[in-house]
Amino acid sequence: MAQATAAFIAGLPKVELHVHIQGVLDAPLRHKLAQKNNVPDIADTVEGLERRYQEFFSACCDRSTDVAELSRGFFELFERGGRVLVTADDFYELAMLYYRRAAQMNVRYAEPFIDFMELTRWGVSLDTQMAGYRRAQVEAKRTLGVKSAWVLSFSRTADPIEMMAAYEDALRHRDMIVGIGMAGFSDESSPLKFNQLYTRARQDGFRLTIHCDPTVPAPAIHQHIRECVTQLGGGGVDRIDHGISAADSTGLVDLLRRNAIGLTICPWTSLPALMHHDDPDQAFFEGVVRRLFDSGVRISIHSDDPALAGQNWVQEALEVVADRAKFTQEEVVQLSLNAVEMSWASCEAKAMLREEIVAYQASPA
Ligand SMILES: [Zn+2]
Repeated sequence: MAQATAAFIAGLPKVELHVHIQGVLDAPLRHKLAQKNNVPDIADTVEGLERRYQEFFSACCDRSTDVAELSRGFFELFERGGRVLVTADDFYELAMLYYRRAAQMNVRYAEPFIDFMELTRWGVSLDTQMAGYRRAQVEAKRTLGVKSAWVLSFSRTADPIEMMAAYEDALRHRDMIVGIGMAGFSDESSPLKFNQLYTRARQDGFRLTIHCDPTVPAPAIHQHIRECVTQLGGGGVDRIDHGISAADSTGLVDLLRRNAIGLTICPWTSLPALMHHDDPDQAFFEGVVRRLFDSGVRISIHSDDPALAGQNWVQEALEVVADRAKFTQEEVVQLSLNAVEMSWASCEAKAMLREEIVAYQASPA
């Protein structure tokens, strides 16, 4: 069967499970909000900000850049950008930027991450953040036909006691939140140190995911993935963000398949972690994406932080997978169906999404 083209992918109904809402903040909106809120930023013109984003993305694609250095650069750019977000209207604008783009790419359902902890530390309350997101969520469903539910993402570098307090505080917004995630600078320490939070969230009825970043070296990362699949939250999480290091381990590939644990894979932000390979493209597209998919591990393809990844969104992520891992139309459809299965939408919503995808496959627009 023919390799999937960009046009076929553009029309395909999509589900986005791995996008950080703060990671869509682009130079024009960032500049506008910095001016409005009188917040000093890393550059005081749109062009200056564009240049900083481009420099960062170029460094990501440069084999001589140290990965740890890159991670630090990423969090500086990402977290510093968060400081321009002050009022509920700012969060509304940010989310609408995402939803409008999602609608253009035919994203039908999304579960974006809210990385809220840094912002609350600076004094922007979770109430303010959620008020803006709620308004955008309702409007996007009504006017753009994009449905969504939020995943509350905890900062991995936070103290577990601080996390529990933040979690308790967030419970009054639980009607907007479908699951709990965790992202941020990762080291070799075990994710089981967050077990109290995850167990409590599981008991409260939330779905669970966690970033297992490829920047953490093996064997630690292999152990982390195993602990997340089998122990975190009591009996393991529902899905894993990234988790691509599992492709190096036959035991982990089997474990993920047996437990039907999906991985949300983001090509544009994962590739920098593989720059030490002789051929990073081959290591990622053949050694990870193709290998996991062909082994029967449930994977789906996503964007992560489009503004920091050269404005590559889920459309471009699927395009690059189709192109370099040689995915056919049928296989790209399967990636979209995998995302439906891995999502935490209701059974009825999943059935509708499946129907839409299968109908498109039968007669692509
Ligand atoms: Zn992420």
